[in-house]
Amino acid sequence: MTSAPEVSFEFFPPKTPEMEEKLWDSVRRLAPVRPRFVSVTYGAGGSTRTRTHDIVRRMAEETDLKPAGHITCVAATRTEIDQVLTDYWTAGVKRIVALRGDPTAGIGTKYSPHPGGYAYASDLIAGARNIADFDISVGCYPEVHPEAGSLSAEIDNLKRKFDAGATRAITQFFFYPDVYLRFLDAARAAGIAQPIVPGIMLQSNFKGLKRMAGLCNTSIPSRIADLYDGLDNDPETRDLVTAHVAADLCNRLVEQGVDQLHFYTMNRAGLSLSTCRLLGLKPQAQA
Ligand code: FAD
Repeated sequence: MTSAPEVSFEFFPPKTPEMEEKLWDSVRRLAPVRPRFVSVTYGAGGSTRTRTHDIVRRMAEETDLKPAGHITCVAATRTEIDQVLTDYWTAGVKRIVALRGDPTAGIGTKYSPHPGGYAYASDLIAGARNIADFDISVGCYPEVHPEAGSLSAEIDNLKRKFDAGATRAITQFFFYPDVYLRFLDAARAAGIAQPIVPGIMLQSNFKGLKRMAGLCNTSIPSRIADLYDGLDNDPETRDLVTAHVAADLCNRLVEQGVDQLHFYTMNRAGLSLSTCRLLGLKPQAQA
């Protein structure tokens, strides 16, 4: 029998006081699952810089969770980014998710590094390593990043990020277990030994999911699209379908030896909690 995997949870910085309340409620409800870490995204173009930092710091100060701040290279100089990293370390935030970020004009437009900034994620990782001994997660793309061009270029770039000092990679979301397993095999064949943690999407708004998948090269099996057919006005059933689809994918991965999973929670505790239950992971009483 396989044992339940370890999990981590990703949140995004909310825009309104109501959404902020929902975020902290979700954090409180998910904490008893004892995640390995929790992370908070950085809005496109660095747009949520202050909100991301405030939430990550508050998590470090007020909870027992291990928070990780996402940070990107876009729209900031090295000096500005180094200051953020130093402030994180001083505030007790020892984890980051280091990313290049998407072009400021939007996904699909040409990326140009900020003059005086870190150009790519590998440069940011090397910069963070110079500042402190951070635990550094990075992104990777089993279906290949739209700009990478080929699986071998994708693996080369991932290797560059591990060589620069990354601790683990978290994948873009995917739905075919074989896509992940083939990517893992290719990474291992290239000499990458570090963890490559599947990123599991818990977005039950299927229209939004399709839009995101299109932007980032994720294929949605027709069998899954069919499950959402006719549910545009039925969010309750969509949630049940989403937890089932996610748990089915996770269980197939766990059967293949995967022991860590990262959930894109969309700031909703219920979907993550029900998916965890279906994997045999229950909230634990607090010490
Ligand atoms: P990189 O690893 O730097 O590579 C991206 C591409 O740049 C490569 O495919 C390659 O084509 C090219 N490249 C890389 N290095 C070089 C080099 N040395 N020379 C020439 N070309 C090179 N975005 C946000 O804005 N905020 C977030 O919080 C956020 N969180 C994410 C979390 C996860 C788990 C993932 C998977 C993605 C996340 N993203 C986030 C999206 C991410 O910023 C985009 O996918 C972005 O386009 C690529 O970022 P990266 O760190 O993978 O880039």
